[in-house]
Amino acid sequence: MPVNATLPYDDQNIFARILRGELPCSKVYEDDWALAFHDINPQAPVHILVIPKAPFVSWDDFSARGSDAQIAGFIRAVGTVAREQGLVEPGYRLLANTGPDSLQEVPHFHVHICAGKVLGRMIVSPD
Ligand code: 5GP
Repeated sequence: MPVNATLPYDDQNIFARILRGELPCSKVYEDDWALAFHDINPQAPVHILVIPKAPFVSWDDFSARGSDAQIAGFIRAVGTVAREQGLVEPGYRLLANTGPDSLQEVPHFHVHICAGKVLGRMIVSPD
C-alpha cells in the first residue's frame, strides 16, 4: 500500500522496528545518525537502504523538519556507505520514494543505494 507522505509517523512501521532491534536486518553500517542494511528484495546486485535514526515519514518530512545536524549526519552517512562499499568508481544511484505516485511502501524515510551493474533508464513507467 503506497504511503501518504503527509500522515503522522507510525512507530510500528517495519524500519522503526528494525531500528529498535525488534526485527533483524543485514547491517552494512551504523553511526549516530543512520543505519544502513541490505534490502530484503534487491532490485540490483547491490541494494542498500539507509535510514535516519529519528522518526521521519518521508523525504518531504525529513527535509522540512530534520535539524541541520540530522540532515548533515544522514547525508554524510549515505556517502560513507557508498565509499565503504566501493561503489564510487563504478557508480551508483540514490533514490528516495516520497508519497503515493512514487509507490513509497515503508513510512520511515529511507534512501535506496543501487549499484553493481549498469542501471539502465532512470524511470520505467508502468504505462
Ligand atoms: P519504498 O518502496 O518504500 O521506497 O521501499 C521499501 C523497500 O523496503 C523495498 O525495496 C523493500 O524491498 C524493502 N523492505 C521491506 N520490508 C523490509 C524488511 O523487512 N527488511 C528489509 N531489509 N527490507 C525491507
